[in-house]
Amino acid sequence: MDDCIFCKILKGEIPSDKVYEDELLYAFRDIAPAAPVHVLIIPKEHIESANALNAEHKELLGHIVLTAAKIAKDLGVAEDGYRILNNCGKNAGQTVFHLHFHLLAGDEFKNLV
Ligand code: AMP
Repeated sequence: MDDCIFCKILKGEIPSDKVYEDELLYAFRDIAPAAPVHVLIIPKEHIESANALNAEHKELLGHIVLTAAKIAKDLGVAEDGYRILNNCGKNAGQTVFHLHFHLLAGDEFKNLV
């Protein structure tokens, strides 16, 4: 997708602070962190949002969650805990329409859902 910020990050056209990469996924630090640790995990395939997912994405989704847990461990926040979050659509506050999961840690989120 030519006008997608995250596709541009994947192509190296926009710089990013990479924390993980494999053949299916890329993870990098959020430019405006909402927590001391704030990583975005994105599929290399351009998928607009959770609304565009189908049964063929089951393996990819499992891989995303397992990778989030691995990144949390690698960054030393697994023990204290973390949140994996996806915003789908405008009412949830999705601003970038390339599927992504936020990995948030380093703080307590008890007051949120
Ligand atoms: P969402 O609101 O769920 O769509 O999340 C989009 C996230 O992407 C926000 O937390 C932004 O701060 C983050 N973001 C936007 N542009 C960049 C960028 N160039 N590098 C890193 N994070 C970005």
